[in-house]
Amino acid sequence: MDLNYFQSYNDLEVHQLMLQDSTRNQAYHKAILDNRDDIKGKTVLDIGCGTGILSIYFAQAGAAKVYAVEASDIYEIAKNVVKENNFENIIEVINSKVEDVNLPNKVDIIVSEWMGFYLFHEGMLNSVLVARDKFLKPGGMMFPESATLYSAPCSLPSYFESWGNVDGVSMHSFGDKLRAEVSKKPLTCTVSPNDILTEPEVVIWLDLREVSQEELKNIKAEQLSVSNRVGKYQGICLWFTCTFPSYATEPVTLSTSPEDPETHWKQTTIILPTEVETEIGTPISYTLCLNSSEDNFRRYSLEVTMQDPNEVEHPEYCPCYLTKC
Ligand code: SAH
Repeated sequence: MDLNYFQSYNDLEVHQLMLQDSTRNQAYHKAILDNRDDIKGKTVLDIGCGTGILSIYFAQAGAAKVYAVEASDIYEIAKNVVKENNFENIIEVINSKVEDVNLPNKVDIIVSEWMGFYLFHEGMLNSVLVARDKFLKPGGMMFPESATLYSAPCSLPSYFESWGNVDGVSMHSFGDKLRAEVSKKPLTCTVSPNDILTEPEVVIWLDLREVSQEELKNIKAEQLSVSNRVGKYQGICLWFTCTFPSYATEPVTLSTSPEDPETHWKQTTIILPTEVETEIGTPISYTLCLNSSEDNFRRYSLEVTMQDPNEVEHPEYCPCYLTKC
């Protein structure tokens, strides 16, 4: 399974997408430059260096040594990028899974861009935690240092509403089928802030200096929020933020919220099988579970259980109130 995973990162277009996400790049860049006093002369481990961009930022900020570890074939490009930027004396590119690497000494700082859709998709954080426990000096810095996953009920007009009249033709037959198809898996799409129905709620907050792999396996959040607009509750929207260390300045946060400039992660939504009309003040309660599969830690299943706001009795696991994808 890891072979397929790493092969997907041989694809240059995957790296193009990340490199052209300047919200992402600039968050790392600013966080690294803001901490340059603490980076000067230090040893850094870049987990999954890809094309090498984060290693270069650390070299620019004055790191003495950067181990840039990359399991996929993209490491060859990273080597050339290091050469192109004249940092061969500082950055050592290592083609290996970080789990298999041996370093001559522990490091002061770990950097990684491990975040997947809804934070956990692809499970790369597990590798970062293995490396942290093996290689980070006590009290060392993590870039990013914390991460938060949020959820909020939302409307999804492009899946529910636009099928009544497609340039003069009613297309509900198509729309219903489409919705049934896409609700089988989490959907990556941009959600307008106007379609978010409530204040967001925290699903989980992770202190990346301390969190264990065990805590990532079964995540459960019971959410109760109140609609702040007249709308239709048709899905659950998920997004995350990551915060970087800061001792001197305001910490940098990389946000993938619908309220903030778009990133390549967009948002993730879980489409519900039914829709519920909301008024201002309508309570919305649901339980969200993210469970990593027993035999493949990279695969998560997402599950939403809606609690009926009208308090009509439904049997437990009633299919109309449980969405699993
Ligand atoms: N740091 C780069 C790439 C981020 S994408 C950037 O910011 O642009 C994540 C990268 O981590 C991919 O290239 C992937 O192949 C690599 N990766 C994921 N898990 C890894 C592991 N366990 N060991 C080494 N590399 C890994």
